[in-house]
Amino acid sequence: MGLTGLDIFKHLPKTNCKECGFPTCLAFAMALANGKTSLDLCPYVSDEAKEALASASAPPIRMVKIGVGENELEMGDETEIFRHDKRFNHPTAIAIVVNDNEDVEAKVEAINQLEFDHVGQHYEANMVALTNASGDAATFKAAAEKAAAKTEKAFVLFSDDLAALEEAVKVLADRRPLLYAANKDNYEKMTELAKVNNCVLAVKGEDLDSLAELVEKIVALDFRDLVLDTGSREVGQVLADLTQLRRQAVKKKFRPFGYPTIAFTTKDDPHEELIQAGTYVAKYASIVVMKTAQKEIHLPLMSWRANIYTDPQKPVAVEPGVHEVGEVGEDSPVYCTTNFSLTYFLVEGEVDTTRIPSYILSVDTGGISVLTGYADNKFTGETIAKAIKEYGLEEKVKHRKIVIPGGVAVIQGKLEEESGWDVLVGPRESADIPKFAKEKFA
Ligand code: SF4
Repeated sequence: MGLTGLDIFKHLPKTNCKECGFPTCLAFAMALANGKTSLDLCPYVSDEAKEALASASAPPIRMVKIGVGENELEMGDETEIFRHDKRFNHPTAIAIVVNDNEDVEAKVEAINQLEFDHVGQHYEANMVALTNASGDAATFKAAAEKAAAKTEKAFVLFSDDLAALEEAVKVLADRRPLLYAANKDNYEKMTELAKVNNCVLAVKGEDLDSLAELVEKIVALDFRDLVLDTGSREVGQVLADLTQLRRQAVKKKFRPFGYPTIAFTTKDDPHEELIQAGTYVAKYASIVVMKTAQKEIHLPLMSWRANIYTDPQKPVAVEPGVHEVGEVGEDSPVYCTTNFSLTYFLVEGEVDTTRIPSYILSVDTGGISVLTGYADNKFTGETIAKAIKEYGLEEKVKHRKIVIPGGVAVIQGKLEEESGWDVLVGPRESADIPKFAKEKFA
């Protein structure tokens, strides 16, 4: 168990100088005990105290890196049970199974194709879960060669056969793969293989107690780049286990559970698999291993993941300014909205549907929506008039007409007065933009 706030307080200078950003040393100690701050923020801690507090100052869940270069995945380093308390840091990596006895190149290509640009964000599948389904070491190695030639993504290597894993690691060691898995019977050899090849090691328990015991044995071998599998596969039990791991690691600072986690879908129906994977993305898998590579399953899953792993305290915003939709010219219509990402991309989608090349003036409201921006004086006649000038709209079009959202029709007069432009009141809902454009601009 980790140190309490009072344990930590005994090692602090007790001068209450506030340089750490906390009003007292005791407040700092309590925050440190809860994993909410870092010991480095106190400049006056002695070396002896640092040593004594090492366990308290370590993050409750160790950061582990799998893969290399642009495809390196960071996982762990989470500090919260509930996203709304602060944020979750590292999105669940999505790994997709490729069996070594199937058409490896075709399946890896399907994984490569799982990329989407959606409401200004880029989504993609992260890992190839290469599985020794053939049970043959040479086939596994050959599959690793084919897969490595086809993708730069990170790998998980699955085999019950240590010799087969050794063969595949020869091919992929420079990609820092995850090796699956150490268990009570093979953990010494698996740890050695991971150590020698600079890989990350999955640890599979039979239940939570046996998992903790196994982790402690591997840590005693001086190896800590671990990913935990509780061994459960039934969705309710997996959820209960992952919740226990997170709670014990974050709330109790129970070190054997302070590592990233891996979970597996079991459903054959892709839609059921999607629901299962979505559950594990929400709580609390660092990696979810799936079978399907169907695009229609992965887009909603990745969208769900993006929602959970955005910072709830920061609105998702697009760059304010003048955006072009299609081959615009000096006669193109001009629409106006805020830089709240969801609003902006809804408007952009509907403007695109009109097939009339248009400009969209995205006003900087700090990433909040039209009505909220209006209520907060960030989306008003004055701010829109200022944005027209600031972003050079007058140099881009020769007309002087701008469409505002119907929900803020009340600012029409003020905007005309401030800008000198004709202000057209558009529809309240972005879905009605095509009809509006047909009537006004077609
Ligand atoms: S900086 Fe250190 S000494 Fe100063 S209040 Fe914070 S914990 Fe105490």
